[in-house]
Amino acid sequence: MTRPLLSISNVSKFYGNVIALSEVSLDVYAGQVTCVLGDNGAGKSTLIKILSGVVTLDSGSYRFEDEPVSFSGPREAQDAGIATVFQDLATVPLMSVWRNFFLGNELTLGRGLMSRLDINRAKGIVREEMQKMGIDVRDPNQNVGTLSGGERQAMAIARAVYFGAKVLILDEPTSALGVRQSGIVLRYIVQAREQGKGVVFITHNPHHAFPVGDRFVLLRRGKLMATIEKEQTTIEELTRMMAGGPELEQLAHELSLATRKKSGE
Ligand code: ADP
Repeated sequence: MTRPLLSISNVSKFYGNVIALSEVSLDVYAGQVTCVLGDNGAGKSTLIKILSGVVTLDSGSYRFEDEPVSFSGPREAQDAGIATVFQDLATVPLMSVWRNFFLGNELTLGRGLMSRLDINRAKGIVREEMQKMGIDVRDPNQNVGTLSGGERQAMAIARAVYFGAKVLILDEPTSALGVRQSGIVLRYIVQAREQGKGVVFITHNPHHAFPVGDRFVLLRRGKLMATIEKEQTTIEELTRMMAGGPELEQLAHELSLATRKKSGE
């Protein structure tokens, strides 16, 4: 059995009296997509923040590549190879695609006072890397704001992969997108997995998770409800197990009773 690339065990996080996460364990393997599913308040954001070094855990352990780790900020996690694509994407809409791609990691020519941006190389790399993700960037000078939502997500994923991510954490990348755009992003998730990345895909949509996920981690109110392998479940079961599943079924039942009553059945 291969060992996980990243692993947390029995991790808890408290905010005053609020238990944001309670004894949660999760393994991420290279070349696999681990989906973290949960409704609002399940603890998904807290989990991402811990994995990406934004906050530190209060108890439990965090290991990466078989070593215990304790990141003191997102840059440290990123340097170790754990890249997080946050929902806001950290892109500047009025800046060009190539500038955004290299934001904070500018390519320069020459040294010291004589250094300047190596624009041509940067543009070439952006075109090539986006191509690998299946996106044809006609003009790297175009503003990021002109890309579609799906393409912007893809750019953020391509950027993380290019800068050496081994683990890619995607924070609800499809939540603001329509069906077609979501499809684009799901395709990139599969591509990242095929490139051997350990992908952590956070979502509240089992219909997005199921087709691409290898393993599903269900959180509810800060607790780990289940960890299920793809072959052990179905989309129907996953949907039912999601927070709100049983409540929604109950609601549907009540509504159908109410409708029947109204129509005098
Ligand atoms: P999700 O992303 O799944 O919606 P969160 O991780 O944001 O869940 O939240 C889990 C719980 O922790 C919620 O009850 C939330 O109110 C609480 N929480 C999260 N962050 C903070 C914070 N900074 N201060 C206080 N409570 C917080």
